[in-house]
Amino acid sequence: MGVEGKQVSTRSETSPEVIVVGGGVIGTAIAYAFARRGISCLVLEQGIIGQGTSEASAGIVSPPSTSAIPAERLELARRSFQAYPWLVAAVQEDSGLDVGYRQWGELLIAKTEEQAASLRELAAWQASTGFESEWVDEKTARELEPLLPEGILGALLADEGGSLVVQRLVRALALAAAERGARVVERAPVTGFEVEGERVSAVRTPQGSFAAGQVVLAAGAWTGHLAGQLGRPLPTLPVKGQMALISGGTTVLRHVVGTADGDGYLAPRTDGTVWAGSTKERGVWDTRVTPAGIAHCLRLVEQLGPGLLGGELVSTGAGLRPGTPDDEPIVGPLPGYRNVWIAAGHYRTGVQLAPATADLVVQGILSGEPDPLLAPFSPHRFDQAP
Ligand SMILES: Cc1cc2nc3c(=O)[nH]c(=O)nc-3n(C[C@H](O)[C@H](O)[C@H](O)COP(=O)(O)OP(=O)(O)OC[C@H]3O[C@@H](n4cnc5c(N)ncnc54)[C@H](O)[C@@H]3O)c2cc1C
Repeated sequence: MGVEGKQVSTRSETSPEVIVVGGGVIGTAIAYAFARRGISCLVLEQGIIGQGTSEASAGIVSPPSTSAIPAERLELARRSFQAYPWLVAAVQEDSGLDVGYRQWGELLIAKTEEQAASLRELAAWQASTGFESEWVDEKTARELEPLLPEGILGALLADEGGSLVVQRLVRALALAAAERGARVVERAPVTGFEVEGERVSAVRTPQGSFAAGQVVLAAGAWTGHLAGQLGRPLPTLPVKGQMALISGGTTVLRHVVGTADGDGYLAPRTDGTVWAGSTKERGVWDTRVTPAGIAHCLRLVEQLGPGLLGGELVSTGAGLRPGTPDDEPIVGPLPGYRNVWIAAGHYRTGVQLAPATADLVVQGILSGEPDPLLAPFSPHRFDQAP
């Protein structure tokens, strides 16, 4: 089981203070943040840690690719971006796993005057909000990244943008949390809850019931359904993304390269492979890989790094991004309950926002008050009008 033969420890604890439902990047980041503070924590994952959405994810950690986001999300992105270097170092040390994080630099390329104008604006906005970002002309962009296609006008260069292997990060976070005393149970789907007044007293799985002090529902696209079992359904929905992993052989990509709208990407990995994708299929629950999906990914390779087309198609995959109706995360206490928090709905930015989300969830639960930064992401915004 697991990455490089490492086992997730299952140290025995009878009554953890916090139960985290879902072992994706959000749930494991929260578990690690609790464990680092010495707080006992149990992660219940219905499948295997690091599979599912994590396996398909590109793992790009870069500045926001649009200025059309709430100031609070920008702040979450900035805090997470700053946290990644130390978080990676800490989690690698605690787990002994390399998560493949590298700040390659990110290039978003312009092929039309309109795209060039909007990328110049985006670079100026990113720079004004504290990220290292600038517009570079075609010659400079090509010197930096010889694999760029012909006919570009220039590119936005975000020097500190990078990527990591999400499957490894999630395994490493779980192992690191376990190393610090958390318990991680795989193949433990949460099937129901025991409720006493305004509190969840236990969480039920086929492996037994687990007494709970606090509960965090971090079950990605499935979170809304679990909240529904508590009588408070939330509108999380899957947004399927298909991807291809390619190897260019001796042709090596040196930067994360994206389209001007930030919709399509090539992301290099430290093992020499390149992640290419992705589709955005809203409301689709299945994770089958389709010829049309892979054709879309390969068209992106043609648009962004055509020299890689002569390489090898190493593997394909699909994952379910946790979407929401307004494309914003849902993070905060579940209305009607005194000990249940939601941490879900991060859609395309779960990796980018995981460190700050985890910190704010832990702080909110420990202080009993959600940080004002979480106001736009409150589950309350989906309350039904009476
Ligand atoms: C193709 C693709 C590319 C992406 N690229 C990027 C990127 O470059 N950068 C970025 O920041 N984000 C990216 N994302 C998005 C990012 O991967 C997600 O936002 C993130 O993985 C969501 O993490 P999560 O922990 O909320 O959900 P998930 O990773 O889905 O984890 C939820 C977990 O809960 C478990 N679960 C569900 N129900 C139950 C239950 N009843 N009991 C127990 N466990 C349960 C599931 O098995 C799952 O493991 C990408 C996603 C895809 C699909």
